[in-house]
Parts: sequence; structure tokens; C-alpha cells
Amino acid sequence: MNPNYASIVPPADEISIEHAQVIIVGAGPVGLLAALKLAQGGIDVLLLEADKQVLQSPRATTYMPIVLNELEKVGLFPDIEKAGHKNKEGIIFRKSHAKGGETLAQLKMAQVPKGSVKYDFAGIHLGQQTLAEIILSHCEKQKTFRIRWGHRFVGVKQSGEADPVSVTCVGPVGEKFFSCDYLIAADGAGSAVRRSLCIPFEGFTWQDFRFVASNVKYDFEGYGGFTTANMIVDEEDWAVIARTGPDDAPWRVAFGVRTDIPEADILKQLPAKYERLLPGPRPLKYELVSANPYWAHQRVAATFKVGKVLLCGDAGHSNNPIGGLGLTTGLLDAAAIANCFLRIYNHNESADALLERYAKVRRDAWINYTNPQSIDFKLRVHSFHPEVQAARDGFFNALNTDPSMHLKMATMMNEVIEDEFAQPELNGLPGTEANDVIEGSKSGKD
Ligand SMILES: Cc1cc2nc3c(=O)[nH]c(=O)nc-3n(C[C@H](O)[C@H](O)[C@H](O)COP(=O)(O)OP(=O)(O)OC[C@H]3O[C@@H](n4cnc5c(N)ncnc54)[C@H](O)[C@@H]3O)c2cc1C
Repeated sequence: MNPNYASIVPPADEISIEHAQVIIVGAGPVGLLAALKLAQGGIDVLLLEADKQVLQSPRATTYMPIVLNELEKVGLFPDIEKAGHKNKEGIIFRKSHAKGGETLAQLKMAQVPKGSVKYDFAGIHLGQQTLAEIILSHCEKQKTFRIRWGHRFVGVKQSGEADPVSVTCVGPVGEKFFSCDYLIAADGAGSAVRRSLCIPFEGFTWQDFRFVASNVKYDFEGYGGFTTANMIVDEEDWAVIARTGPDDAPWRVAFGVRTDIPEADILKQLPAKYERLLPGPRPLKYELVSANPYWAHQRVAATFKVGKVLLCGDAGHSNNPIGGLGLTTGLLDAAAIANCFLRIYNHNESADALLERYAKVRRDAWINYTNPQSIDFKLRVHSFHPEVQAARDGFFNALNTDPSMHLKMATMMNEVIEDEFAQPELNGLPGTEANDVIEGSKSGKD
């Protein structure tokens, strides 16, 4: 550079590196829950989020007892109970409106004897974005919590065992550099962290339908006897129709469209689909709030751990959303990984073996419980293969004729989580009771 220019060009940027004990990529509900537990345990945690706020797209709506138990341990339950809608009725399986809307079977929480399960309701319904905002508000009260919005993760480097992990983001004004002892990837199914480590996302993508999640204001209860959670069983017009919250919150109508419909035309299917799904007087009068098409997958990362980088939530696994098990499993991952770090930092446990165990236990939980159950859910509303149909008829028949089925299902949803790492003496850590690495997300709705 011509020395005369020195006074007229800006000085070179100073490259600073911000450090945290644990960095989490992704401020979805999974990253936020992990951050809350870590911060409550006094661990210095930094969240890096690509967006400028909590994502608002319509996704999870239902949190089952197995997850509520985890949320209760970190003090979130009262806020979630207040903001959400308790499903005290159960789940209705029914035909589509176009085929008469007849109820095929019903899980009835009223049939579950009082006091026989901890949570005597089938879950709390609440939009995922509100759940995330509630967790964030709790995080913000913690001294050791930091968040950087608008910071998109782009790269990670791990050197020697004793060296910190280096992380690069693209922030509002260019590249930003960070370092940490450990990195948690909670950046969703398209995880940039997972991809940057070349970890295969094994499994398959459903090719028989695209999934559309719409939020709509409509009087389902008034017009059609719908209750909080409804599964519509049909070869073409299968759907999930459920509350996303209390009172005037929109309802979720999630349905499938054929994969040969061009992307640009998918949402044009919606009025005709609603015509076949929605009860009530015609012409239909509804207020569409939002609608997004998705591909649905059954995929799991080949490993949840590479060195000091751990995968969590959708970054590690993705399943079709019909049974509502994706975030359920992810929140249990978050609780488990945070429990590991609480042991490592606050109780000097050896890190590598514990984190290896986390990676195996949570990957196995998805493979052995979440994946088969979520495939069952999808087939139950959609497939008319003779074997599936026979199994479905058997399930419906049992629900309709065997009164013990209601307690059995409620018990499964409340199932106590096995924890091979339980250390009761760790109870009483500041702000948390959770000390377990969670073995399985066994609970489902069947
Ligand atoms: C229609 C639909 C309905 C569903 N219903 C249910 C349900 O009822 N119950 C249930 O349990 N599950 C449900 N799921 C699944 C659930 O939505 C996901 O499992 C959940 O979002 C996973 O949470 P997460 O925090 O792991 O990832 P996400 O919620 O995807 O959050 C990832 C975060 O990472 C950020 N991010 C991404 N890339 C980067 C980057 N490079 N750098 C920094 N930040 C980044 C994103 O902006 C986002 O904030 C549903 C899904 C869909 C699509």
C-alpha cells in the first residue's frame, strides 16, 4: 500500500476470539434447553443462532408427559402449563370429513383411573416457537448464559486433545471467531455442523408424500366434535388436526400431498384439501395463518460424536412428524447432554467416556424407539397395506373394547426413564435436579 494512504484507509480489523466452556449452535428448543440446564449448573455457555430471533415456522405442537417431566426439572413447567392447552381428552382416530368423519377409535384420558399416572393428560399443546421463547426467557435470567443472534456457523476445527475447539460464524459484519472446550450441534435437520464433519445422515426420505403443516383459525370443536388431538385415517386425505394452544390459538392441520405436484403448486392444494377435511357449514369460512411444505425423513447421523463435537436433536435425527416424536426425542437428548456436562464440569468426571456413552445411548434411543414408533404412526394414518390394516384394526378394536388400554397407553406416555448413569448424590445442583443420561424416549401415543 502506498504509505500516503495510511491516513485515509481504515485500520485492519482486530481478530478477536470469544471463548466459552460450551458453545451450542442453534437456538431451537433443543439448543435452548441444553443451554438452560448448563447455565443453571453454572457452566459458561454461548449460543450461536443464524436467525435474528426464535424461528417462527409452524412445527411441533405437542409435548408428552415424558418431556414435561424433563421440563419440570428445570422449572419450566408452570410457564408452559400457563401458555399451553392441556389435552385432557385423549386422541381421536377418525375418517375424513369427506368420508363421513366417523370416529374409529379413541384414547380416553377420562378412562385412566385418577392418581394412576403422574400426568393424567395426554400432553400439553403449545406452538414450538412459544416453547422456545419461554426457555429463552429462563436462559436470560442465568448469569453464565450468552447468545449471539444472526451468527451462522460455517466451520469447526479440532486440533490436539488439550486444545480448544475453534468455531467460525458469519455474523452481521463478517466472520466471527469463537473457541470452546466442547461444541454442541443443535442446528436442526440440515445441520451445518454435521455436514461440515462429513457425518452421513443415514436412512430415507418418504417418497409417497410431501407433508404440509398449516395453521388455521377454525371452530373444529363447534362444528365437528373434534377434540384437542385428532388423527384422520385415509389413503389420500390422511391428516393430523390438533390444537396449537389454548382458546383462540390456531389449529394445526397437517396433511400430505402427492410428490409429483410441483413445489410452486403445493399450497394451491390447500383449499380442496380443507374442503375434504374440515367439518361444518359450506362455504367454509376459515382464517389461514400459515402453511409450509416439508419433506419427511427417517434419518439418523452415523455418529453423534466427533472428538469434542456432539450432535443433539434434529441435527442428529429426523423423523416424520405424525406422532410428534421428533422434538420429544430432541429435548431428551438436550437433557442428557447437559447432564453429562454437569458431571464433567461440576463433578470432575472423565469426559470422553461419558460423551461416547451419550452418543451411543441417544443414537440407540432414536433407532430403537423413536424411529419404529414414528413409522408406525405414519402407517397407521396412511397405509392400507393388508398387514398394516390388520394391525390398525387390532389396535382400534383394543381401544374400543378393552378398558385397560387407556391406562396402558397413559402409563407408556408417563414411562419412567431408565437411566444407567443415575447418581442420586448429584441431586441438588444449583437450579437442577437432573442427573441422568436418559436411556430412551420410549413414550409414544400407542
Ligand atoms: C410440521 C411439523 C410438525 C411437528 N410436530 C412435532 C410435534 O408435535 N412434536 C414433536 O416432538 N416434534 C414435532 N416436529 C419435529 C420438531 O419440529 C423438530 O424435532 C424440532 O424442531 C427439533 O428442534 P431442534 O432444536 O433440534 O432444531 P430446530 O428447531 O430446527 O432448530 C435449529 C436452530 O438452529 C438454527 N440454525 C440452523 N443452521 C444454523 C447455522 N448454520 N448456524 C447457526 N444456527 C443455525 C436454526 O435457525 C434454528 O433456530 C414437527 C416437525 C414438523 C416439520
